Amino acid sequence: MSAEMPTRSESGPAASKRQVIASLLYKSGLMKPVSRLRSLLKRDLRILAYHRVLSIAEPDAFDFDLELISASEVRFRKQMRLLRERYTPILFGDVIRALDTGARLPPRPVIVTFDDGYDDNYRVAFPILRELGVPATFFVSTGHIESGKPYAYDWFVHMICRSASGQLRIAELGVDCTLPAAVAQRRELAMDLLDRLKSLDAQTQEAVIATLERETDLPRSRGHADCKPMTWDQLREMQAAGMEIGSHGVWHRMLAKLPPSEMHGEVHRSKQMLDGELASAVTTISYPVGGLDAYNEAVIESAKAAGYRLGCSYICGTNSLPRTAGFQLRRLPVERHMDEAWFEAMLALPEAFTYPSRHRAD
Ligand SMILES: [Zn+2]
Repeated sequence: MSAEMPTRSESGPAASKRQVIASLLYKSGLMKPVSRLRSLLKRDLRILAYHRVLSIAEPDAFDFDLELISASEVRFRKQMRLLRERYTPILFGDVIRALDTGARLPPRPVIVTFDDGYDDNYRVAFPILRELGVPATFFVSTGHIESGKPYAYDWFVHMICRSASGQLRIAELGVDCTLPAAVAQRRELAMDLLDRLKSLDAQTQEAVIATLERETDLPRSRGHADCKPMTWDQLREMQAAGMEIGSHGVWHRMLAKLPPSEMHGEVHRSKQMLDGELASAVTTISYPVGGLDAYNEAVIESAKAAGYRLGCSYICGTNSLPRTAGFQLRRLPVERHMDEAWFEAMLALPEAFTYPSRHRAD
């Protein structure tokens, strides 16, 4: 399958066409036979990528990145039920065992992953996963788990949504503009700027965010209930209940944009912290942001040297079995606008229905 970087369009013509076709397939009852037929012809591993599971009653009162919400609680439960009924949810540990022993993976394997480590993963997603018996892997940025500090990109959106000043100046991005009054418009502006911010080197990105923290008087150290990382105790409880924990770096920095020593530090130290805090050693890393500008050969070599066995990108697609590109695993992003029919169609025919998600991934 060709690699497809998620592109930014959640409601454009391509998205709505996919939605209509998915809905027709769903109503016709053809989805199940189509899915069965494909699994006879092609054996591959689907890895779903979630960020947050959260029900937002008032989007305008939520001044963080809405695009990080992959599903509401109700929708997530339905999605996990479908996995339980039609697929075999497994963990990366199962993939590693299969690679080591030559054993076959179960039919229609799927892995559920979460990036970043938001506390709704524990509060909302984990009880549903436990109840339905679906294992999942949580990739967490250890610096945030350790400190409780909010995530930088999400805080960037928050500062633009909440700034008391009517003016926004970011010299590094050539921005000097009046901020709109409505939160929805501010968020839209923030999302555009976030895409541009991610094209800068990691240190400049951090300098921009630090300057904005001072100028808006919204320091990240203040924290916020809507942007909280999980805690070590929560991760330990999840691991003890059969969930898998993986690395998402220390500070969620774009690894390919860092000087080599800092890149190695993110890859190695996050593993050391996780291995020290949890009951078993972590085997898998998910590269923060995960697109082609977020990891490279040097990052993969560093991950191998640190002792990881597998690495996840955020490039759309499935993974061939049994031989799979172990450090460039592709995933299927789940997004909050994806309804039941679309989710089912994406699993049945990933080639056609992968969500044209935001480029920035995350
Ligand atoms: Zn991330």
